[in-house]
Amino acid sequence: MSANRRDFIKFVVAGAVTAGCPIDLSLVAAQTNDVQKNHVADVDGEDNRICHQVRDGKVFTRPPASARHDVVIVGGGVSGLAAAYRLRHRDFLLLEKEPHWGGNAYEMEYEGSIYATGSAFLAKDEHAYPFAKEIGLEPLPVNSSDASIIRGELILDTWGDGLDKLPYPAPVRESFKKFRKEMLTIDVKKRGKELFDKPFSDFLKGHAAELKQWWDNFGPSNWGATSDETAAGLAIESLQEMVEESRTDDRYTWPGGLGAITKKLSDILQATHKDRMQTGATTVAVVSEKEEVQVTYILGGELRTVAAKAVIMATPKFITRRIVDGLPDKQSDAMHQIRYIPYPVVNLIFDKPVFNHGYDTWCPGNTFTDVVVADWVIQKQAGYQQKLNIISCYTPMKEADRGYLLNEIGARKIAANVLADFQKLMPGLNVDPVEVHIYRRGHPLYMSTPGLYTQVQPLVRQRLDRVFFANTDSEGPESTTNAGILAAQRAVKEVEARLAGRPMPKEKAVAG
Ligand SMILES: Cc1cc2nc3c(=O)[nH]c(=O)nc-3n(C[C@H](O)[C@H](O)[C@H](O)COP(=O)(O)OP(=O)(O)OC[C@H]3O[C@@H](n4cnc5c(N)ncnc54)[C@H](O)[C@@H]3O)c2cc1C
Repeated sequence: MSANRRDFIKFVVAGAVTAGCPIDLSLVAAQTNDVQKNHVADVDGEDNRICHQVRDGKVFTRPPASARHDVVIVGGGVSGLAAAYRLRHRDFLLLEKEPHWGGNAYEMEYEGSIYATGSAFLAKDEHAYPFAKEIGLEPLPVNSSDASIIRGELILDTWGDGLDKLPYPAPVRESFKKFRKEMLTIDVKKRGKELFDKPFSDFLKGHAAELKQWWDNFGPSNWGATSDETAAGLAIESLQEMVEESRTDDRYTWPGGLGAITKKLSDILQATHKDRMQTGATTVAVVSEKEEVQVTYILGGELRTVAAKAVIMATPKFITRRIVDGLPDKQSDAMHQIRYIPYPVVNLIFDKPVFNHGYDTWCPGNTFTDVVVADWVIQKQAGYQQKLNIISCYTPMKEADRGYLLNEIGARKIAANVLADFQKLMPGLNVDPVEVHIYRRGHPLYMSTPGLYTQVQPLVRQRLDRVFFANTDSEGPESTTNAGILAAQRAVKEVEARLAGRPMPKEKAVAG
C-alpha cells in the first residue's frame, strides 16, 4: 500500500497500556528503539500517573474509613463482576480503575456493529456456558473448525482434513500427521503433573520446523507463550480439542466475543446496585486490621478509605502483590513469578465484504497470529445483512516489546503493520478499511509456563485472613474468562464461610 493511501485511513488507539495499578517496572521492557525512547513519556491519563507514583514507591496517606461494607471487590473485569453478581444479597462495593467495566473481556462498537477487543469464545463444557445462560445470554454456536492461511493458501479445518492440503513438501505434511497421531495417544488427565511441568517443545523435537512455527504462532494467542515456554499438558489438550472440533465444534460466542458477558453483567448490576459500583477508582492500598480490612482508592484525584469485613482482589497478581499489605513472602514471590505478555487487538473495519471464510483463521509468519470475523455467529441468522466486515486481528507480543505500546506512535505503527500483513495474506485482501482500531493492553494475558499451574497458582490463591483472591490468574492452566468466573465463585464461597465463621471450603484447583 502506498504511503498516500494509508494516510487516508483513520487509526484509532484505545485502551490503557498499564492495564492496572501499579505497574511493575520490571514488566516494562527496556526501551529499545528511537520510537520508544522519544515517546515513552507520552503515557498520560490520570490513572497511569497514579500508577506510576505507587510504582515509584509513593506511600499514599490513608484517610480514615468513611464508609463500611460487607465486601469490597477490587477490579471490574469478568471476575470482579461475577463476584459482585454472586454477592448481590450483600452490601458490596465494586471498584474499577478504568472508566468502563469488562477488563480483558470487553466489547466495543462501530456504527452499530459490535467487535471484540479481547476475549473471543468459550467452550460448551466450561462453566461460563451455563453462567451466560443464567444471566440471560443465549450462546451462539461458532460451528467452524479453525482454518490456516499458509503461503497465501487458505487451508480449511487445519487439524482435520486440512493436514493433507498443507502447502508444504510431502515430508512436512507427514510430520504434521505423525505428530497429531502421537498427541492423540497421550492421556493428559493421567499424566497431569508431569505434563504441566515440562515444556511443550520437548514433544516437537524430531518433527518439521514448520510444525514448531505453527505452534509458536498458536500458543502466544491462546496462552501467551511459544512452545519452549508452554506447559506441555495444555498444548496437547488443546490439540486434542482441535481435532475433536473438526468433528463437532463446541465453541460459542457473540459478536463482541465474551465482552458480551461483562456487558450483560454490568447492565444487570447497574440496574439494581449502581450506588455500589465505582469506575475510575484506582485502589492503592489494602491493609488488614484486626476486625476489618481497609481499602484506600483514588477517585477524581481524592483519596478515600473504606472498611470491609472481607475483600476480594479480582486484579491481576502483578498489581495485587503491590497493593495488598502483609502478603507472606512466599505468596508474593509466587505472584511475582507469573509473567504477562502485552497483547493488543487490531480491528480492521471494512465497509464491504473482504474476509468471511471462517470464524478463527491462523496466520503463521505475520505480525498477528489469527483473525476472527466479528459477526461470524450471526451471519447465518435469518434477515441478517452484513453492514461492516470487521476483522479482529489478535496480535500477542513478546514481553521485551511491551514498550512499543506505551505511546500512540508505537501503537499506530503496530496497527499499520497488522494492516499491511493482512492485505498481503492472500489474494483478494488488498482492500483499504474505513478505520483501524487498536486496543492496547500492557499485561493482559499470563503465560502458561511449565510449573505455573502445578506449583505457582496453588500458592497465589491462598487467602490472607479476610483478603481473598479471584481473577483468572489464580487458577490455570490457561487464562480464560471461565477461570475468571470460577475464581470469583470460589472467592465468594470463601468470603461467605469467613463471614459466617464456618471452616473454609477445601482448597482445590477450580479450572482445568
Ligand atoms: C486478546 C485476548 C484474547 C483472549 N481470548 C480469550 C478467549 O477466546 N476465551 C477466553 O475464555 N479467554 C480469553 N482471554 C482471556 C480472558 O480475557 C481473561 O482471562 C479474562 O477476561 C480475565 O478476567 P479477570 O476479571 O480475571 O481479569 P481482568 O480482565 O484483568 O480484570 C481485572 C480488572 O481489574 C482492574 N484493575 C487493575 N488494577 C486495579 C486497581 N488498582 N484498582 C481498581 N481496579 C483495577 C483492571 O482495569 C481490570 O478491569 C483472552 C485475553 C486476551 C487479552
